Amino acid sequence: MPGLDDLPLRDDLRGQTPYGAPQLDVRARLNVNENPYAPSEALVADIAAAVAEASRGLNRYPDREAVALRADLAAYLGRESGAALTGDQLWAANGSNEIMHQLMLAFGGPGRTALGFTPTYSMYPEYCRDTFTRYVTAPRDEHFRVDAQTAVEAIELHLPDIVLLASPNNPTGTPLDLDVVRAVLDTAPGMVVIDEAYAEFRRSGTPSALEILDGHPRLVVSRTMSKAFGMAGARLGYLAADPAVVQAVQLVRLPYHLSAVTQAVARTALAHADELQAQVALLRSERDALVVWLRARGHDVADSDANFVLFGRFPDRHAVWRGLLDRGVLIRETGPDGWLRVSVGTPEENAAFRAALEEVTA
Ligand SMILES: *Cc1c(COP(=O)(O)O)cnc(C)c1O
Repeated sequence: MPGLDDLPLRDDLRGQTPYGAPQLDVRARLNVNENPYAPSEALVADIAAAVAEASRGLNRYPDREAVALRADLAAYLGRESGAALTGDQLWAANGSNEIMHQLMLAFGGPGRTALGFTPTYSMYPEYCRDTFTRYVTAPRDEHFRVDAQTAVEAIELHLPDIVLLASPNNPTGTPLDLDVVRAVLDTAPGMVVIDEAYAEFRRSGTPSALEILDGHPRLVVSRTMSKAFGMAGARLGYLAADPAVVQAVQLVRLPYHLSAVTQAVARTALAHADELQAQVALLRSERDALVVWLRARGHDVADSDANFVLFGRFPDRHAVWRGLLDRGVLIRETGPDGWLRVSVGTPEENAAFRAALEEVTA
């Protein structure tokens, strides 16, 4: 039977596997950094009503500029970070993955280079592959931090068109000092993208790059409703930047990329931002407790500003991962050799993780 190998597929895609972590129905699903709390019944009813209203106009294309949603996002970011933003500085897409893809389409491409700091998000090389952008990396230090001098030297060496910096970083949870962002902005010849997918989970005192958006027209801050907002299934990511950056991504976005249903769901969720994020404080304290607990058992644990914790190191991490799964706890086998990443769940899920890990490592 003819298969994938018989198709005239792009040479660089041959033999590759699609991105994806296991989606298994187990007791504790702690492998993709979702918010473990489902929306309330009241919010479900509001979303259903908003979708019904949007459905009445589904014979028409959606607002391709998503003007109302972008104004709502600007207002939300203003409340969350204190940054005064307007809708023309915001752009929205189907998850921040699509945001990043659009940025790569607009600012990357053949003959262009993107710089990442490893270990970091495993999708960055894939965006580069898809857009024929060369991906180069520089290492983080032993605490998974980006050192300003290392960053500056890597930028001077590679002259990247795009610098990709996740803060907090995935899979390590490491935040970024604004001094490092400023040093990168001062040196980089191109765009600087700060991927703040987990920003709402940052510990108090950890800054957001939104604070320095003013006066930095090549700085882009990417955010998502997938994590703290508990809306991973809705697929809504967004960026904040100078209005000219928004105009740039509008050149490459697909026509009417963001459905009327998605826009309605996202606006309803934003109207309930406080309720949706009510558990963020709990998740942060559960995270901090998990770090303390793991360290008390002698594990190496990376400081985390996100809703997950990277811990290790295990001579056979796959065996530990498998042992946890056998006990109904699904975590992620990712990061440098010997490390594992666990998402912070409900207190019950976290207890199940701790009990399972004690058994597996006994
Ligand atoms: C989860 C995550 C995202 C968000 O992806 P969505 O497409 O918005 O669901 C972006 N960046 C990083 C580093 C992530 O871990």
